[in-house]
Amino acid sequence: MSDIDGRAVAKALRAEVAAEADRLRGEDVVPTLAVVVPTDDEGTAWYVRSIKKAAEKEGVDCRIEHLKAPGRDEIAARLQELSADPAVHGIICQTPLPEGVTLAELGWYISPFKDIDGANPESLGRLAQGRRTWAPATSAAVLELLKREDLVLEGARAVVVGRSTVVGKPAALLLLNESATVTVCHSRTKDLAAVCREADVLVAAVGRAGMIGADFVKPGATVIDVGTNPTEDGGLVGDVDYAAVSAVAGRLTPVPGGVGPVTTALLLRHTVEAAELSRTRG
Ligand code: NAP
Repeated sequence: MSDIDGRAVAKALRAEVAAEADRLRGEDVVPTLAVVVPTDDEGTAWYVRSIKKAAEKEGVDCRIEHLKAPGRDEIAARLQELSADPAVHGIICQTPLPEGVTLAELGWYISPFKDIDGANPESLGRLAQGRRTWAPATSAAVLELLKREDLVLEGARAVVVGRSTVVGKPAALLLLNESATVTVCHSRTKDLAAVCREADVLVAAVGRAGMIGADFVKPGATVIDVGTNPTEDGGLVGDVDYAAVSAVAGRLTPVPGGVGPVTTALLLRHTVEAAELSRTRG
């Protein structure tokens, strides 16, 4: 079994971003990402700081827009202002959101031209139609990792465990757009292990530590672990039982060091793409 090295993929992506950001800056375009943070959650604050640090290292400006105890209308208004601001190229609305507010309803207020984390339902619609768009960065990271492994996805059996709008569904659509034969599983799926064992490519996006055991994996399969589950000692583990599955899988992403760093790098790549797009659409 070989590990799929997300940190190495992220490093390569970030070098591409830095070169592109440098070129754009030379043409007086400063690629700029705005992150709306509608929460005081400490974990979110840490994550957002890590995005800002990564962005600025590669020449992408990052504005953190912290809103204190906002209501739905305040967040929507801020997203609309940023969508209209020509100096901003990419917009993310960070979760968790206030009680009763969903990203699906707020996503409409992010211009599709700046929707670099695929939050606008229009972006998901375009993905479903197989048209050019930005998929949510985590789902895009799944595909990026698979593509860099030189796997043949056309005709491959892919199983995605998890059907959330931000990870499972867009990952399934991306795989379908690559002509994989895709099955999407969820909490009501019967005999989940047997369905997963059919997969050449297995994507786990559940949020349950170590639930994917060796009996879920076809020998030699490629397994992408999206799960990030905090442990009591302050660490992080995936949805895959790493020790057990590494004895069966052909390739496996570790947690941490798999999908996470690639997700951050793709947020930056999408931002420079949006900055480039802003030039051509005026
Ligand atoms: P979510 O919205 O809670 O969705 C979880 C999905 O898992 C749901 O579709 C749920 O099914 C399914 N599920 C729950 N229990 C199951 C079970 N016993 N058997 C089969 N399916 C089950 O979570 P999410 O936002 O998609 O995130 C999934 C994981 O990815 C989390 O660990 C999250 O922290 C992680 N994540 C990582 C990154 C990254 O950059 N690495 C980014 C985002 C998220 P139902 O629909 O039937 O309820």
